[in-house]
Amino acid sequence: MPGEPRTAGAGASIELRALTKVYDGGPVVDAIDLRIAAGEFVTLLGPSGSGKTTTLNMLAGFVPVSSGEILVDGQRVDDVPTHRRDLGMVFQNYALFPHMSVGENVEYPLRQRRIDRRARHTMVAEALGLVGLDGFARRRPRELSGGQQQRVALARAVVYRPGVLLMDEPLGALDKKLRDQLQLEIRHIHAELGTTFVFVTHDQDEALALSDRIAVFNHGRIEQVGTGEELYESPGSMFVARFLGESTLLPGRSRVDGPASVVEVFGRRVRAERGTPLDAADAVVMLRPERITLVPRSTDDPPAGRNAVPGDVVDQVYLGNARKVLVRLPDGSEAHVREPTTGRGDARPGDPVWLTFDAADATALPNRNGSS
Ligand code: ADP
Ligand code: MG
Repeated sequence: MPGEPRTAGAGASIELRALTKVYDGGPVVDAIDLRIAAGEFVTLLGPSGSGKTTTLNMLAGFVPVSSGEILVDGQRVDDVPTHRRDLGMVFQNYALFPHMSVGENVEYPLRQRRIDRRARHTMVAEALGLVGLDGFARRRPRELSGGQQQRVALARAVVYRPGVLLMDEPLGALDKKLRDQLQLEIRHIHAELGTTFVFVTHDQDEALALSDRIAVFNHGRIEQVGTGEELYESPGSMFVARFLGESTLLPGRSRVDGPASVVEVFGRRVRAERGTPLDAADAVVMLRPERITLVPRSTDDPPAGRNAVPGDVVDQVYLGNARKVLVRLPDGSEAHVREPTTGRGDARPGDPVWLTFDAADATALPNRNGSS
């Protein structure tokens, strides 16, 4: 940070305190708090317009903060100019200098930092090796594919071993196959360097594939922060449940029963052992598609011992590794069920079924329909 050269390979810690950006009278980043450990890979995930880029731009020093604080390694940096924040940056459009060779592009930040020629040469070679572009130093950017250009941008961002690497949708312009491949490489580079990575995406799969932890953004606020598994298994709100992974939300009235919630859903009592127990509240029971088992409904009596709500099969799709079954619920909404292809898979459109699930797989959440 200011003054102190960082040991190569060491990541910096980051702390955002009540960080706020106001435009045209309204907050677009609204008093967010976030701590990122040195060397951690954290993704800011959220829909378009939720404040991810603005947050990253405040971290980078491109956009002044309206209020709140940014600390890097415990030092306030919100008044420090970008070039003294010890950051590397990669954006969606590669922004390489077209008139310079690949090597010159990667070397550029080292020249700016007045690093001597011999050291520059070694560092450029290392950075190109890291991104799998040995031997490309003399090429021009226009001679490279989109994926290769983005690797050059990555090499240029890490060549001076910054404590933090900021990436704003860096794979957004690439096709799916290339994106998957570069995701693996970004993970590898993160592990190799030990640099703290802050990555922005609106793509949940990308966030899950890359991150140690994910911060879910919604309307300028952080809804929840956690590992991908925590967010998938225990979302704290309907918004997170919907944004990360597929979910079925069963609405009803909830009351507390010991450590669980019992929710009246379509005239049936459903027990949910996950989520904060909700008393006398409008709630939803959130289920992931692979935790629901369909049972034929020939009588009014559901199978004993498990939660069950009635529905009618709408359609089923064979996906190879799973079968996706759409089931219409009594309120007209559709549940998504994922069944293993090892099962019988004999659900036909129109079939009456019970959707059965364990209380341990059911999460009770406050019903905040409309306010997202
Ligand atoms: P995201 O990256 O999550 O898509 P942004 O941070 O780019 O979201 O934008 C958040 C909100 O701030 C949006 O409503 C956007 O229109 C608004 N915004 C961003 N930059 C400006 C600006 N320079 N002036 C006014 N409003 C802005
Ligand atoms: Mg953005």
